[in-house]
Amino acid sequence: MTVTRFAPSPTGHLHVGNLRTALFNFLIARKSGGTFILRLDDTDPVRSRPEFADAIQRDLDWLGLGWDRLERQSERLELYGNAAEELRGLKRLYEAFETPTELALRRRKLLKMGRPPVYDRSALDLSEDERDRLRTERGQGVWRFLLEHERVEWEDGVLGQASIDASSVSDPVLIRQDGQVLYTLASAVDDVEMGITHVVRGSDHVTNTATQIQIIRTLGGAVPSFAHHSLLTGPQGEQLSKRLGTLALGDLRDSGVEPMALLSLMARLGSSDPVELRYSIEDLMEGFDITAFSASPTRFDVEDLRPLTARYLRGLSFDAVAADIDALGVPRRIARRFWEAVRENVGTRREMGEWWILFRDGAEPIVDAADRDFVAEAFALLPEFPFDTGTWSAWTAAVGERTGRKGRNLFMPLRKAISGRERGPEMADVMALLQKPPGLERRGSG
Ligand code: GLU
Repeated sequence: MTVTRFAPSPTGHLHVGNLRTALFNFLIARKSGGTFILRLDDTDPVRSRPEFADAIQRDLDWLGLGWDRLERQSERLELYGNAAEELRGLKRLYEAFETPTELALRRRKLLKMGRPPVYDRSALDLSEDERDRLRTERGQGVWRFLLEHERVEWEDGVLGQASIDASSVSDPVLIRQDGQVLYTLASAVDDVEMGITHVVRGSDHVTNTATQIQIIRTLGGAVPSFAHHSLLTGPQGEQLSKRLGTLALGDLRDSGVEPMALLSLMARLGSSDPVELRYSIEDLMEGFDITAFSASPTRFDVEDLRPLTARYLRGLSFDAVAADIDALGVPRRIARRFWEAVRENVGTRREMGEWWILFRDGAEPIVDAADRDFVAEAFALLPEFPFDTGTWSAWTAAVGERTGRKGRNLFMPLRKAISGRERGPEMADVMALLQKPPGLERRGSG
């Protein structure tokens, strides 16, 4: 059975980059009737915060990306301790005492000599006595995984045949001086213990993959298949990493982006398949194929979400928005007409409310100086309130006859005076939806 996981660290808010990872893992699991695990990588007790863990769950809920199991690494420390013990027993985990300054100096020296800045493993040469002395002088060391110097190869779901020469990588620290288990080990242990079959994550983890494959093999676990999707860039190909903070999912939600618009974009962006607006997660699953994604960076423009959201809203049936419309206080008997009138004119759900306020309370009229007399004359010809869908054509015909105006010259000043906007729903609908007779006096406290 397929088992995937989305494994964010609750050290910040989810952003569009994380969403790609979450969505891909979710779709792969759902498509095959498998299990999708939300794993909170919270082994860092200082940077991990409960409020971020809550926000992550809220964001996924909002998007409809439900998980079958929630796991927290902070509750699984014993497993990692046991795995570390096993690695020590196999002589694949060794203690090292270099200070960060010493390591930085060595790195610089190697770089100067034109050599890759790989840790030289000098800790392996320490005698028991030297280790004891260093421990007394410096406290506990860090624990490094002894990489086997081979080429680690795997068939990557996005990159194709991938490989890393392990000798080009420093033996990774798995346990810090203060005893904190690092993600590299915890993730490998969890992937085995949870029976993860597919690991989909950003291409910034490619090097980790080589290490984790070795750790998993050393521990005798089953190596999952890996797929590393490309990272998002801005619309001009610029790095997004610094801007990701401004692309938090919570902010997109607050700005009115619709979940299905966002998911529809993310499920195809960067793949060979066109972005198609989908109205349900089930539809999204159809045709989703991780191997269709390109390995090169994917351009993302947050502005694309606006037209997509508008298009999504426009396509919603009355039933899909009936509850929202009811909540606005729109009387039931005109609710359907209201939706038909505004659906083409809303960029976000919130804008439905703006239209309703306009119909309910009347607009702030816009009357250009040159049209002042014309509009006053036209308003004097308005029929008795309430209006219906025939009012606009009858009224404008009468106004046209009286004033001689035609076409845009006739209609636009009247639209602006009545709705306070240059664009909007059909005026026949606007007239029928007005809850008060329109007036030319300015509203508000002025
Ligand atoms: N906590 C890691 C991250 O957020 C998880 C990476 C992985 O999927 O293995 O980058």
